[in-house]
Amino acid sequence: MGETKDIDTYEEELLDYEEEDEKAPDSVGAKVNGEAVKKGYVGIHSSGFRDFLLKPELLRSIVDSGFEHPSEVQHECIPQAILGMDVICQAKSGMGKTAVFVLSSLQQIEPTSGQVIALVLCHTRELAYQICHEFERFSTYLPDTKVAVFYGGVNIKTHKDLLKNECPHIVVGTPGRILALARDKDLSLKNVRHFILDECDKMLESLDMRRDVQEIFKMTPHDKQVMMFSATLSKEIRPVCKKFMQDVMSYDQLYLNLEVFPF
Ligand code: ADP
Repeated sequence: MGETKDIDTYEEELLDYEEEDEKAPDSVGAKVNGEAVKKGYVGIHSSGFRDFLLKPELLRSIVDSGFEHPSEVQHECIPQAILGMDVICQAKSGMGKTAVFVLSSLQQIEPTSGQVIALVLCHTRELAYQICHEFERFSTYLPDTKVAVFYGGVNIKTHKDLLKNECPHIVVGTPGRILALARDKDLSLKNVRHFILDECDKMLESLDMRRDVQEIFKMTPHDKQVMMFSATLSKEIRPVCKKFMQDVMSYDQLYLNLEVFPF
């Protein structure tokens, strides 16, 4: 009952919210994006990953991955993200957003046995699988940090057993399965310090999924870092994102520089 009321209140708040100073007309965006996409992650910055003062174990896996220079989004977002700031990042697909949250989570996590410290939600199984793979790749030299992926279509008992016997520090998953595991108390979210939504527009546009995400969010502690990533962020979705965030550092590819959201 309480939950329903909360969701209703939340929707009302959204209706009340008026976006001010919206400075990103889509037509301009398409043009700039088109240009940026051609550049991809190719060395825009002469700085290296070393400048971020990452753990040596992370730098080693970055070298193994063949990453030489940070992409634009990585250059702009990683320094803030590793300090624990909330981040909202919009940049075209393929610009290297995944490494922003993978590296900054791994940099900050001190693995404690039996505690899920980072939670990454995304809208498809394929994406969840890929993200988990990125975490595995960059945590090669951090053997104490464990990651697991949970999505529907897999026997839930397998997930419950894994949580019981070998609790991961990082959980990647789709909202339905994560919520089922959390409701059944197999997945404890009370130690989550990093809450990440990838392709957040896709999750928040669908009201069913938004409800699940919100319910999961409420099971995590108030004091945590929230990071959201998307290729597109419509005017309608921006205020929805706002509800999840505190001190936002926003990188918006449209402007190619730092931009603080008028939140
Ligand atoms: P996005 O999440 O923005 O769609 P990805 O994180 O999937 O983009 O990155 C696209 C591809 O670029 C991936 O294959 C990734 O390994 C690669 N990549 C990301 N950052 C770098 C980098 N700094 N140097 C080289 N390759 C990179």
